[in-house]
Amino acid sequence: MTQVERQQWDVVVVGAGGAGLRAAIEAREQGARTAVICKSLFGKAHTVMAEGGIAAAMANANEHDGWQVHFRDTMRGGKFLNQWRMAELHAQEAPDRVWELETWGALFDRTADGRISQRNFGGHEYPRLAHVGDRTGLELIRTLQQKTVALQQEDFRERGDYESGLKVFQECTVTRILKDEDGRVSGVFCYERESGRFFVIEAPAVVISTGGIGKSFKVTSNSWEYTGDGHALALLAGAPLLNMEFVQFHPTGMVWPPSVKGILVTESVRGDGGVLRNSEGKRFMFDYIPDVFKEKYAETEAEGDRWYDDPDHNRRPPELLPRDEVARAINAEVKAGRGSPHGGVFLDVSTRMPAEVIRRRLPSMYHQFKELADVDITAEAMEVGPTCHYVMGGIAVDSDSAAARGVPGLYAAGEVAGGMHGSNRLGGNSLSDLLVFGRRAGLHAAQYAGGLGEGGRPAVDEDQVDAAAAEALRPFSAEGPVEGEPDEGRPPENPYTLHQELQQTMNDLVGIIRREPEMGQALEKLGELRVRARRAGVEGHRQFNPGWHLALDLRNMLLVSECIARAALERTESRGGHTREDWPEMDRQWRRANLLCRLADPTGNLAATDPVRGQIRLSREETEPVRPDLLALFEKEELVKYLSEEELHE
Ligand code: FAD
Repeated sequence: MTQVERQQWDVVVVGAGGAGLRAAIEAREQGARTAVICKSLFGKAHTVMAEGGIAAAMANANEHDGWQVHFRDTMRGGKFLNQWRMAELHAQEAPDRVWELETWGALFDRTADGRISQRNFGGHEYPRLAHVGDRTGLELIRTLQQKTVALQQEDFRERGDYESGLKVFQECTVTRILKDEDGRVSGVFCYERESGRFFVIEAPAVVISTGGIGKSFKVTSNSWEYTGDGHALALLAGAPLLNMEFVQFHPTGMVWPPSVKGILVTESVRGDGGVLRNSEGKRFMFDYIPDVFKEKYAETEAEGDRWYDDPDHNRRPPELLPRDEVARAINAEVKAGRGSPHGGVFLDVSTRMPAEVIRRRLPSMYHQFKELADVDITAEAMEVGPTCHYVMGGIAVDSDSAAARGVPGLYAAGEVAGGMHGSNRLGGNSLSDLLVFGRRAGLHAAQYAGGLGEGGRPAVDEDQVDAAAAEALRPFSAEGPVEGEPDEGRPPENPYTLHQELQQTMNDLVGIIRREPEMGQALEKLGELRVRARRAGVEGHRQFNPGWHLALDLRNMLLVSECIARAALERTESRGGHTREDWPEMDRQWRRANLLCRLADPTGNLAATDPVRGQIRLSREETEPVRPDLLALFEKEELVKYLSEEELHE
């Protein structure tokens, strides 16, 4: 039996971004002793990098806004593949979650008459994003951390121990969810990044809130932690992933210099009036308005420009189409030879706003371009192109409770959970998603844990702890191919090389535009990488060893990449964040299908599966019909574009 330190908690939250912290606060407020574990430093998560704002129909900037309009926009953005109950709850509850942040100390930018200011973003009918300049995520995380500390101070007053009810374990990585013999969650297995020490947290409820998967792609806005860990943890624990083919390529990432390629250029630049032009100076987005959105977008530059001052009598400019549409348009312009010198297009805000307004409204963008690219955005255009940004696919959850399907005690919230955004997420809808479903996950996890009582808590299976420790240590004893095997005598595989090859494969073969033969090649290459990854070896010891950490992350990236490639090959249509050159149309029959990925070996034993054949099995499931009162929020002519004949008839 592996000797590792044990601790007992009621709820463990894996991830300390917006979703994780909101879940932890809720669980603690419900009386559950709650542990939060995060891979990087506390406060360093994607949430802190969010720039543009948080979407909530508060109707501060336009009185016609309301949850129904937000719901409609979200469903349209997701091309109706959204788990509609999640979209409904999200639209209804987002304003309360924003107000709640202010009661906890956040301060959003204000309108002249003192209300929370709201800005425009792609796909949102009215200005809806509450924001703090272009540093909204920083304020969100700062506030949630402040609330965490306030709760810890309360616990100190009552029990003399700050960490008795809510404790953060930073720079710790979870590598396995543990279960008891009845398949119920019993805890997590983790290692400390600094010391390499293993430990187990025993708990009957686990909330996964580990964010995204971007590091499987070469060009990405995501930072080093986003290796799809939570997605993989859920799969390995027996929970399915939903619609993993939908990956969002944000239209505007930096393209130059190469060292910063992929870093995000916030959509607020376009929301505040920035325009996209090609090398001929043309505002090309007017040529790319798809039929489903024709009535909602301006036909001329003059109308689009008038919309900023008079949105009730003009239509919005097509630069504010949903992200998938803009990313494809940029891709097409570059491919047609009308790109900028470094392979992007031009995004210009300098001719649209005075310099001092740009510096006030977009301070981070101003500094980002000045410092990283020596470009003054108040005087010249930026060069931008698509970058892998967000994953719509994720852990299949119950809409109301955030419970992961099929594994009692497992919950998921935030980017790692699937369903809310359908095939494409609208900007600003992630921060609101984190708060709405983070709170719900924390609430239900605490209620579940509390309902078990002391005697009903699942016991940790020691064999699983031993297996998790052995799995984590394997890279230290990895060997190259042995006698009789191809490439006999070669040293163990270098995890960095494997990672680079994986990123290149996903970028080139399962990227923004997909084709059947290329995805076939990607699956073959992934098979080869899986075989080689079993021999990924590292040198040195367990104290802060990034090569070892990457070797462990590779398992997760390979699993997630296989899910994306298999599902993308299966879905023979184009919809949202999944574009097939060989199936360019959106197919109403496909709206009825969800694709679920499960582990080929349901026990979670990867060594038992054939690495060449693959570790993932795909199945189809019919989407749940949208509730009639929600369908009634749309015009029939619009529904015809999305729903099949049978659905319309029903
Ligand atoms: P994250 O905030 O990503 O946090 C994940 C946490 O999980 C981290 O603490 C991480 O350390 C931890 N973790 C990961 N793996 C493990 C593991 N194995 N063990 C332990 N811990 C682990 N959305 C908007 O709505 N509006 C915006 O303006 C906006 N701007 C963005 C700008 C950028 C540059 C980026 C990258 C994203 C932006 N997004 C925006 C998207 C949004 O920020 C993210 O989708 C969202 O913050 C994800 O939050 P989360 O709580 O799910 O996870």
